[in-house]
Amino acid sequence: MMKILVVEDEKAISDFICAGLKSEGYMCEQVFDGLAACDKIDKNTYDLILLDVMLPGADGFEIMEYIRPSGVPAIFITAKAQVSDRVKGLKLGADDYLVKPFDLTELVTRVEVVLRRYQKGKSEITKAGVTVNLDKRTCIKGESEIPLTVKEFDLCVFFMKNAGAALYRETIYERVWQGEYTGDSRTVDLHVMRLRKKLGWEDTLVTVSRIGYRLNA
Ligand code: CA
Repeated sequence: MMKILVVEDEKAISDFICAGLKSEGYMCEQVFDGLAACDKIDKNTYDLILLDVMLPGADGFEIMEYIRPSGVPAIFITAKAQVSDRVKGLKLGADDYLVKPFDLTELVTRVEVVLRRYQKGKSEITKAGVTVNLDKRTCIKGESEIPLTVKEFDLCVFFMKNAGAALYRETIYERVWQGEYTGDSRTVDLHVMRLRKKLGWEDTLVTVSRIGYRLNA
């Protein structure tokens, strides 16, 4: 799930933004002060930062300079509609600009566009309510990380990449265990059972009679 930090000192606006983002399935954290924002950015990983310009502590431009090396995308949110401010924000590396007042549709659209732009280089797959990150080798369901063994993870990714298709036990074994299938399906079956249990996929990762398994997603 995408995690967004909202740096905005006006609580009503911050709440409005967060409620909107949460209803679209994003995780949202709020911070109301510039210095506290830098602190949070140091200690956490965010997929996107929404940044007000006028803030106590440190202003949005200062925060932008601070976070730029981290490569986290940022969208400025400000009441200032002046062209000079927009230019300054974009020159500092902001990805987009929102001028208050804005509606939720505009906010969500801009967030999606920026995230999609950054997603290209990212290796995440989301299927059946589960997100795997191929670089970090993490598996996230809801808001919690599910610990998987090496083979469980590989198996999970194989099912996700082939979601909707019935997969032969033989194919699964050869692709995930990278060895020749000897006709003994216990290894595959056991791992599928464990994966179902860990990910709550009892009704999602289904048995296909005389073939193997299929992930319905
Ligand atoms: Ca403000």
